[in-house]
Amino acid sequence: MLPIVINLSGDCTQKCIFCHGYFKEGMNKDNHSWYFNEIKKKILVFIGRKSFTECMLIGNEPTNFTYFFEFLEFLNNLGIKDIYIQTTGERFSDYDFAKKCYDLGVKGLYIPIYGDDEIHDKVTGKDGAYFKLKQAIENISKIGIKYYFHTILIKQNYPFSFEGVFKKSRIIAHYPYKDNKLDYKLFSIKLSDINEYDKNNILPFRIPCLKIGMSKLDKILINYSKGHIGNKIKISPYKIEIEKQNKIFYYGKKCDSCAYKNNLCTGVYKEYLDLHGDNEFNPI
Ligand code: SF4
Repeated sequence: MLPIVINLSGDCTQKCIFCHGYFKEGMNKDNHSWYFNEIKKKILVFIGRKSFTECMLIGNEPTNFTYFFEFLEFLNNLGIKDIYIQTTGERFSDYDFAKKCYDLGVKGLYIPIYGDDEIHDKVTGKDGAYFKLKQAIENISKIGIKYYFHTILIKQNYPFSFEGVFKKSRIIAHYPYKDNKLDYKLFSIKLSDINEYDKNNILPFRIPCLKIGMSKLDKILINYSKGHIGNKIKISPYKIEIEKQNKIFYYGKKCDSCAYKNNLCTGVYKEYLDLHGDNEFNPI
């Protein structure tokens, strides 16, 4: 049985420059109580007589949701005791918080990391964020909560080298998601500038002429998307059109003569083409 993906958005304390903030509207603390009741009703209706044991919490920052622990207890009472969370990891720098999560079924965290020390702090707009993340990793490693890193490829962390404690971690890279409210000029790099280390790790693009793809990580990504982000079992009282937004991919004029257009190549966001053009593409 696939896990349920649940939007549980608390306020994020970071201010990442590329953040698409799909979940920001209506997520101030005043309506957490309303949200808590709505989401519980939705889950109960959705589950019906089915039995689920695993879920993934996404949002802005699920751990800052006012009724976070009550929500974990609610899941536990439904038999959902394998819980994964997409989080900055910040709150897990508090050992007691991390332990309580573990006791309530938190098995793994999906955490963004943008570089070492001050690079991570700069990208997140938060002094000390890297230090807290290190503490969090120490805590959850002791407790037995797993963690999986991902990063976002932007000017501010180019050329994406990860040293220190995170050096040996497998890091899945994303290009910033599309959002009309974002100014791509502030952070967008050309895909052809991305170094070899990252070329096979990039989501959401597959651009064969730039040798950007997912070949080495295909299996992981397919499992990841089937099991979590991409599955259809997504519950939220908000009307969030993520799938619709993510489907907006375009090709350059040069691509018209390419055999991979509408085939093996995903294309890129319109904003990307507006900014960088299609000079870097080489039709196949
Ligand atoms: S030329 Fe265009 S369609 Fe062909 S692989 Fe490159 S980006 Fe994709």
